[in-house]
Amino acid sequence: MREKIPMSAPDLDDSDIQAVLEVLRSGRLALGPKAIEFENLMAEYIGVKHAVAVSSGTAGLHILVKVLEISEGDEVLVPSFTFCASVNVILYERAKPVFVDIEPETYNLDPEDLERKITKRTKAIMAVDVFGHPVEWDEILRIAEKYNLKVIDDSCEALGAEYKGKKVGQFGDCACFAFYPNKQITTGEGGMIVTNNDNIARIARSLRNQGRGEMGAWLYHERLGYNYRMDELSAVLGVSQLRKIETFLEKREKVANMYTEKLRKCSWIRPPIVKPYVRMSWFVYVVTLEKGLDRDKVILEMEKRGIPARGYFSPIHLQPYIRKMLNTKEGMLPITEDISKRTLALPFHNNLTEDEIEEVVNTLKEIIENM
Ligand SMILES: *Cc1c(COP(=O)(O)O)cnc(C)c1O
Repeated sequence: MREKIPMSAPDLDDSDIQAVLEVLRSGRLALGPKAIEFENLMAEYIGVKHAVAVSSGTAGLHILVKVLEISEGDEVLVPSFTFCASVNVILYERAKPVFVDIEPETYNLDPEDLERKITKRTKAIMAVDVFGHPVEWDEILRIAEKYNLKVIDDSCEALGAEYKGKKVGQFGDCACFAFYPNKQITTGEGGMIVTNNDNIARIARSLRNQGRGEMGAWLYHERLGYNYRMDELSAVLGVSQLRKIETFLEKREKVANMYTEKLRKCSWIRPPIVKPYVRMSWFVYVVTLEKGLDRDKVILEMEKRGIPARGYFSPIHLQPYIRKMLNTKEGMLPITEDISKRTLALPFHNNLTEDEIEEVVNTLKEIIENM
Protein backbone atom coordinates (compact mmCIF):
# COMPACT_ATOMS: atom_id res chain seq x y z
CA MET A 1 0.00 0.00 0.00
CA ARG A 2 1.12 3.56 -0.71
CA GLU A 3 2.18 5.58 2.30
CA LYS A 4 -0.44 8.09 3.38
CA ILE A 5 1.98 9.89 5.65
CA PRO A 6 5.72 10.05 4.91
CA MET A 7 8.23 8.80 7.51
CA SER A 8 10.16 12.07 7.18
CA ALA A 9 10.21 15.09 4.87
CA PRO A 10 12.43 18.13 4.34
CA ASP A 11 10.87 21.57 4.89
CA LEU A 12 11.61 23.46 1.66
CA ASP A 13 10.02 26.69 0.46
CA ASP A 14 10.41 29.18 -2.40
CA SER A 15 13.29 30.98 -0.70
CA ASP A 16 15.30 27.72 -0.69
CA ILE A 17 14.52 27.10 -4.35
CA GLN A 18 15.37 30.69 -5.34
CA ALA A 19 18.68 30.50 -3.47
CA VAL A 20 19.72 27.32 -5.31
CA LEU A 21 18.62 28.77 -8.67
CA GLU A 22 20.77 31.85 -8.09
CA VAL A 23 23.86 29.74 -7.54
CA LEU A 24 23.07 27.71 -10.66
CA ARG A 25 22.76 30.94 -12.67
CA SER A 26 26.03 32.27 -11.24
CA GLY A 27 27.92 29.36 -12.78
CA ARG A 28 30.07 28.95 -9.65
CA LEU A 29 29.19 25.48 -8.42
CA ALA A 30 32.17 24.54 -6.24
CA LEU A 31 34.83 26.19 -4.05
CA GLY A 32 32.92 29.46 -3.89
CA PRO A 33 31.55 32.00 -1.44
CA LYS A 34 28.44 30.04 -0.36
CA ALA A 35 30.34 27.32 1.51
CA ILE A 36 32.24 30.03 3.38
CA GLU A 37 29.00 31.86 4.18
CA PHE A 38 27.42 28.64 5.46
CA GLU A 39 30.49 27.95 7.62
CA ASN A 40 30.45 31.44 9.14
CA LEU A 41 26.74 31.25 9.85
CA MET A 42 27.10 27.82 11.42
CA ALA A 43 30.07 28.80 13.62
CA GLU A 44 28.08 31.78 14.87
CA TYR A 45 24.94 29.71 15.47
CA ILE A 46 26.74 26.99 17.45
CA GLY A 47 29.03 29.46 19.22
CA VAL A 48 32.37 28.01 18.13
CA LYS A 49 35.46 29.44 16.42
CA HIS A 50 35.52 27.20 13.35
CA ALA A 51 33.11 25.41 11.05
CA VAL A 52 34.27 23.26 8.12
CA ALA A 53 31.68 22.24 5.53
CA VAL A 54 31.96 18.70 4.20
CA SER A 55 30.12 16.39 1.80
CA SER A 56 28.30 14.34 4.46
CA GLY A 57 28.12 13.69 8.18
CA THR A 58 30.04 10.48 7.68
CA ALA A 59 32.81 12.29 5.76
CA GLY A 60 33.09 14.82 8.60
CA LEU A 61 33.33 12.16 11.29
CA HIS A 62 35.94 10.29 9.26
CA ILE A 63 38.01 13.47 9.00
CA LEU A 64 37.79 13.94 12.77
CA VAL A 65 39.02 10.40 13.43
CA LYS A 66 41.99 11.14 11.12
CA VAL A 67 42.69 14.54 12.66
CA LEU A 68 42.81 13.07 16.17
CA GLU A 69 45.25 10.44 14.86
CA ILE A 70 43.08 7.53 15.90
CA SER A 71 44.61 4.50 14.23
CA GLU A 72 45.39 0.79 14.44
CA GLY A 73 45.62 -0.47 18.02
CA ASP A 74 43.56 2.39 19.47
CA GLU A 75 40.23 1.73 21.14
CA VAL A 76 37.33 4.14 20.77
CA LEU A 77 34.34 4.02 23.10
CA VAL A 78 31.11 4.29 21.13
CA PRO A 79 27.45 3.35 21.60
CA SER A 80 26.00 0.46 19.61
CA PHE A 81 22.61 2.17 19.76
CA THR A 82 23.46 4.61 16.94
CA PHE A 83 23.65 4.94 13.16
CA CYS A 84 26.38 2.78 11.58
CA ALA A 85 28.47 5.80 10.54
CA SER A 86 29.55 6.52 14.15
CA VAL A 87 31.23 3.11 14.19
CA ASN A 88 32.31 2.82 10.54
CA VAL A 89 34.60 5.85 10.67
CA ILE A 90 36.55 4.15 13.48
CA LEU A 91 36.87 0.98 11.37
CA TYR A 92 38.00 2.97 8.30
CA GLU A 93 41.18 3.75 10.28
CA ARG A 94 41.57 0.20 11.61
CA ALA A 95 40.95 1.33 15.19
CA LYS A 96 38.73 -0.75 17.44
CA PRO A 97 35.21 0.31 18.41
CA VAL A 98 34.44 -0.68 22.00
CA PHE A 99 30.69 -0.71 22.49
CA VAL A 100 29.17 1.00 25.52
CA ASP A 101 25.66 0.39 26.85
CA ILE A 102 23.04 3.14 27.18
CA GLU A 103 21.01 4.92 29.83
CA PRO A 104 17.54 3.35 29.98
CA GLU A 105 15.82 6.77 29.87
CA THR A 106 17.48 8.76 27.10
CA TYR A 107 19.16 5.89 25.20
CA ASN A 108 22.42 7.83 25.29
CA LEU A 109 25.86 6.60 26.38
CA ASP A 110 25.81 5.42 29.98
CA PRO A 111 28.75 7.18 31.70
CA GLU A 112 29.18 4.34 34.23
CA ASP A 113 29.50 1.66 31.58
CA LEU A 114 31.75 4.00 29.61
CA GLU A 115 34.21 4.34 32.49
CA ARG A 116 34.13 0.58 33.11
CA LYS A 117 35.23 -0.12 29.52
CA ILE A 118 38.33 2.08 29.56
CA THR A 119 41.63 0.20 29.06
CA LYS A 120 45.26 1.22 28.47
CA ARG A 121 44.49 1.32 24.75
CA THR A 122 41.47 3.63 24.96
CA LYS A 123 42.22 6.76 22.97
CA ALA A 124 38.90 8.50 22.41
CA ILE A 125 35.17 8.68 23.01
CA MET A 126 32.74 8.93 20.10
CA ALA A 127 29.72 10.39 21.89
CA VAL A 128 26.40 10.46 20.03
CA ASP A 129 23.51 12.80 20.89
CA VAL A 130 20.95 10.18 19.98
CA PHE A 131 17.63 11.38 18.47
CA GLY A 132 18.65 14.98 19.29
CA HIS A 133 18.99 14.49 23.07
CA PRO A 134 22.43 15.60 24.33
CA VAL A 135 24.56 13.00 26.12
CA GLU A 136 25.34 13.54 29.81
CA TRP A 137 28.15 15.95 28.95
CA ASP A 138 29.33 16.83 32.49
CA GLU A 139 30.02 13.17 33.23
CA ILE A 140 31.46 12.31 29.82
CA LEU A 141 33.88 15.25 29.91
CA ARG A 142 34.89 14.51 33.49
CA ILE A 143 35.79 10.94 32.52
CA ALA A 144 37.60 12.11 29.36
CA GLU A 145 39.73 14.47 31.40
CA LYS A 146 40.47 11.91 34.11
CA TYR A 147 41.75 9.34 31.57
CA ASN A 148 43.13 11.84 29.05
CA LEU A 149 40.81 10.81 26.23
CA LYS A 150 39.90 12.71 23.07
CA VAL A 151 36.21 13.41 22.53
CA ILE A 152 34.38 13.55 19.20
CA ASP A 153 30.73 14.51 19.35
CA ASP A 154 28.65 12.81 16.68
CA SER A 155 26.02 15.53 16.82
CA CYS A 156 24.58 14.54 13.44
CA GLU A 157 21.11 14.18 14.98
CA ALA A 158 21.25 17.15 17.31
CA LEU A 159 21.52 20.52 15.53
CA GLY A 160 20.17 23.12 17.93
CA ALA A 161 20.09 20.86 21.00
CA GLU A 162 21.32 22.37 24.27
CA TYR A 163 22.83 20.91 27.43
CA LYS A 164 22.56 23.15 30.51
CA GLY A 165 22.12 26.18 28.25
CA LYS A 166 25.04 25.43 25.91
CA LYS A 167 24.57 24.29 22.33
CA VAL A 168 25.69 20.83 21.37
CA GLY A 169 28.75 21.19 19.13
CA GLN A 170 30.66 23.13 21.80
CA PHE A 171 31.44 20.00 23.81
CA GLY A 172 34.49 17.78 23.42
CA ASP A 173 37.39 18.44 21.04
CA CYS A 174 35.20 18.66 17.96
CA ALA A 175 31.78 17.73 16.64
CA CYS A 176 30.05 17.04 13.36
CA PHE A 177 26.51 17.78 12.12
CA ALA A 178 24.74 16.22 9.13
CA PHE A 179 22.23 17.56 6.62
CA TYR A 180 20.70 14.53 4.94
CA PRO A 181 17.02 15.28 4.07
CA ASN A 182 15.61 13.70 7.25
CA LYS A 183 17.74 15.89 9.57
CA GLN A 184 16.66 19.19 11.17
CA ILE A 185 17.99 21.17 8.18
CA THR A 186 19.06 19.76 4.84
CA THR A 187 21.57 20.41 2.07
CA GLY A 188 20.67 17.20 0.19
CA GLU A 189 23.87 15.48 1.27
CA GLY A 190 26.20 17.42 3.54
CA GLY A 191 27.83 17.85 6.90
CA MET A 192 29.64 20.40 9.07
CA ILE A 193 32.59 19.95 11.42
CA VAL A 194 32.70 22.44 14.30
CA THR A 195 35.52 23.07 16.76
CA ASN A 196 37.23 25.71 18.88
CA ASN A 197 40.61 24.13 18.15
CA ASP A 198 42.61 25.97 15.43
CA ASN A 199 44.73 22.95 14.62
CA ILE A 200 41.79 20.56 14.22
CA ALA A 201 40.10 23.05 11.88
CA ARG A 202 43.24 23.59 9.82
CA ILE A 203 43.90 19.88 9.27
CA ALA A 204 40.21 19.17 8.65
CA ARG A 205 40.23 21.80 5.86
CA SER A 206 43.25 20.16 4.32
CA LEU A 207 41.87 16.61 4.59
CA ARG A 208 38.56 17.48 2.93
CA ASN A 209 40.45 19.12 0.06
CA GLN A 210 42.78 16.32 -1.14
CA GLY A 211 45.40 17.11 1.49
CA ARG A 212 46.18 20.53 0.08
CA GLY A 213 47.75 23.09 2.41
CA GLU A 214 46.03 26.34 3.28
CA MET A 215 48.25 28.48 1.07
CA GLY A 216 49.53 25.72 -1.16
CA ALA A 217 49.11 25.49 -4.91
CA TRP A 218 46.32 23.43 -6.51
CA LEU A 219 48.64 20.54 -7.25
CA TYR A 220 50.67 20.63 -4.05
CA HIS A 221 49.51 18.04 -1.50
CA GLU A 222 50.85 18.02 2.05
CA ARG A 223 49.11 14.84 3.21
CA LEU A 224 46.87 12.00 2.06
CA GLY A 225 43.48 13.65 1.77
CA TYR A 226 40.02 13.16 0.32
CA ASN A 227 37.48 14.95 -1.77
CA TYR A 228 35.00 15.57 1.04
CA ARG A 229 34.13 19.14 -0.01
CA MET A 230 30.63 20.60 0.02
CA ASP A 231 29.45 22.04 -3.32
CA GLU A 232 27.91 25.49 -3.67
CA LEU A 233 24.37 24.27 -4.40
CA SER A 234 24.31 22.35 -1.13
CA ALA A 235 25.95 25.22 0.76
CA VAL A 236 23.46 27.85 -0.37
CA LEU A 237 20.61 25.55 0.58
CA GLY A 238 22.27 25.17 3.98
CA VAL A 239 22.42 28.96 4.42
CA SER A 240 18.78 29.31 3.46
CA GLN A 241 17.72 26.48 5.78
CA LEU A 242 19.86 27.54 8.74
CA ARG A 243 18.19 30.97 8.69
CA LYS A 244 14.95 29.14 9.55
CA ILE A 245 16.35 26.79 12.20
CA GLU A 246 14.51 28.33 15.15
CA THR A 247 11.14 27.99 13.38
CA PHE A 248 12.02 24.43 12.41
CA LEU A 249 12.91 23.45 15.97
CA GLU A 250 9.68 24.97 17.27
CA LYS A 251 7.62 23.12 14.66
CA ARG A 252 9.32 19.85 15.53
CA GLU A 253 8.79 20.36 19.25
CA LYS A 254 5.11 21.08 18.61
CA VAL A 255 4.70 17.85 16.63
CA ALA A 256 6.53 15.86 19.33
CA ASN A 257 4.38 17.39 22.08
CA MET A 258 1.19 16.56 20.17
CA TYR A 259 2.31 12.95 19.87
CA THR A 260 3.19 12.73 23.57
CA GLU A 261 -0.12 14.29 24.57
CA LYS A 262 -2.13 11.84 22.46
CA LEU A 263 -0.10 8.84 23.65
CA ARG A 264 -0.28 9.76 27.33
CA LYS A 265 -3.23 7.50 28.04
CA CYS A 266 -1.70 4.43 26.38
CA SER A 267 -0.19 2.35 29.16
CA TRP A 268 1.62 0.06 26.70
CA ILE A 269 3.79 2.80 25.33
CA ARG A 270 6.50 4.99 26.76
CA PRO A 271 6.96 8.38 25.05
CA PRO A 272 10.50 9.85 24.85
CA ILE A 273 12.01 11.15 28.11
CA VAL A 274 13.78 14.51 28.05
CA LYS A 275 16.03 15.53 30.94
CA PRO A 276 14.95 18.80 32.58
CA TYR A 277 18.20 20.67 31.89
CA VAL A 278 18.25 19.80 28.20
CA ARG A 279 16.81 21.37 25.09
CA MET A 280 15.90 18.50 22.84
CA SER A 281 16.29 19.10 19.12
CA TRP A 282 13.75 16.60 17.85
CA PHE A 283 15.29 14.46 15.09
CA VAL A 284 12.83 11.55 15.18
CA TYR A 285 9.95 10.64 17.47
CA VAL A 286 10.71 7.26 19.02
CA VAL A 287 8.43 5.47 21.47
CA THR A 288 9.16 2.32 23.45
CA LEU A 289 6.65 -0.52 23.55
CA GLU A 290 5.89 -2.50 26.66
CA LYS A 291 7.79 -5.78 27.06
CA GLY A 292 6.10 -8.71 25.35
CA LEU A 293 4.55 -6.76 22.47
CA ASP A 294 5.69 -7.91 19.02
CA ARG A 295 7.24 -4.70 17.70
CA ASP A 296 7.97 -6.06 14.23
CA LYS A 297 4.37 -7.18 13.83
CA VAL A 298 3.22 -3.69 14.86
CA ILE A 299 5.43 -2.22 12.10
CA LEU A 300 4.01 -4.65 9.54
CA GLU A 301 0.42 -3.91 10.52
CA MET A 302 1.08 -0.15 10.44
CA GLU A 303 2.54 -0.46 6.95
CA LYS A 304 -0.49 -2.45 5.78
CA ARG A 305 -2.57 0.55 6.80
CA GLY A 306 -0.34 2.96 4.86
CA ILE A 307 1.54 4.32 7.85
CA PRO A 308 5.30 3.79 7.96
CA ALA A 309 7.11 3.00 11.22
CA ARG A 310 10.66 1.81 11.87
CA GLY A 311 12.58 -0.16 14.44
CA TYR A 312 15.12 2.43 15.48
CA PHE A 313 18.02 1.78 16.08
CA SER A 314 19.05 -1.73 15.25
CA PRO A 315 22.20 -2.25 17.36
CA ILE A 316 25.46 -1.96 15.44
CA HIS A 317 27.24 -4.71 17.42
CA LEU A 318 24.69 -7.21 16.04
CA GLN A 319 25.00 -6.19 12.38
CA PRO A 320 26.36 -9.00 10.19
CA TYR A 321 29.56 -7.18 9.16
CA ILE A 322 30.38 -6.17 12.74
CA ARG A 323 29.81 -9.70 14.09
CA LYS A 324 32.26 -10.91 11.46
CA MET A 325 34.86 -8.19 12.00
CA LEU A 326 34.75 -7.93 15.80
CA ASN A 327 33.25 -11.23 16.94
CA THR A 328 30.48 -9.43 18.82
CA LYS A 329 27.42 -11.32 20.01
CA GLU A 330 24.07 -11.06 21.68
CA GLY A 331 24.30 -10.55 25.46
CA MET A 332 27.11 -7.98 25.41
CA LEU A 333 24.89 -4.94 25.92
CA PRO A 334 21.76 -5.85 27.87
CA ILE A 335 20.01 -2.47 27.85
CA THR A 336 20.79 -1.71 24.20
CA GLU A 337 19.53 -5.14 23.18
CA ASP A 338 16.35 -4.92 25.24
CA ILE A 339 15.46 -1.36 24.22
CA SER A 340 16.24 -1.80 20.52
CA LYS A 341 13.74 -4.65 20.26
CA ARG A 342 10.98 -2.39 21.58
CA THR A 343 11.62 1.03 20.01
CA LEU A 344 9.42 2.35 17.26
CA ALA A 345 10.00 5.52 15.24
CA LEU A 346 6.75 7.11 14.11
CA PRO A 347 6.32 9.41 11.08
CA PHE A 348 7.91 12.73 11.95
CA HIS A 349 8.53 16.01 10.12
CA ASN A 350 8.02 19.76 10.58
CA ASN A 351 4.61 19.96 8.95
CA LEU A 352 2.83 16.89 10.27
CA THR A 353 -0.72 18.00 11.05
CA GLU A 354 -2.74 17.25 14.16
CA ASP A 355 -5.10 15.11 12.05
CA GLU A 356 -2.20 13.07 10.72
CA ILE A 357 -0.79 12.58 14.21
CA GLU A 358 -4.23 11.55 15.39
CA GLU A 359 -4.40 9.00 12.57
CA VAL A 360 -0.99 7.53 13.43
CA VAL A 361 -1.88 7.26 17.11
CA ASN A 362 -5.32 5.77 16.45
CA THR A 363 -3.88 3.22 14.05
CA LEU A 364 -1.26 2.26 16.62
CA LYS A 365 -3.93 1.91 19.32
CA GLU A 366 -6.17 -0.21 17.13
CA ILE A 367 -3.31 -2.58 16.25
CA ILE A 368 -1.97 -2.99 19.76
CA GLU A 369 -5.34 -3.33 21.45
CA ASN A 370 -6.15 -6.20 19.06
CA MET A 371 -2.88 -8.07 19.52
C1 LIG B 1 22.80 10.98 10.00
C2 LIG B 1 23.86 10.50 10.92
C3 LIG B 1 25.22 10.50 10.55
C4 LIG B 1 25.75 10.99 9.24
O1 LIG B 1 25.02 10.67 8.16
P1 LIG B 1 25.33 11.10 6.66
O2 LIG B 1 24.24 10.40 5.93
O3 LIG B 1 26.68 10.61 6.30
O4 LIG B 1 25.24 12.57 6.56
C5 LIG B 1 26.13 10.09 11.50
N1 LIG B 1 25.76 9.67 12.71
C6 LIG B 1 24.47 9.65 13.10
C7 LIG B 1 24.15 9.21 14.49
C8 LIG B 1 23.47 10.04 12.20
O5 LIG B 1 22.19 10.00 12.57
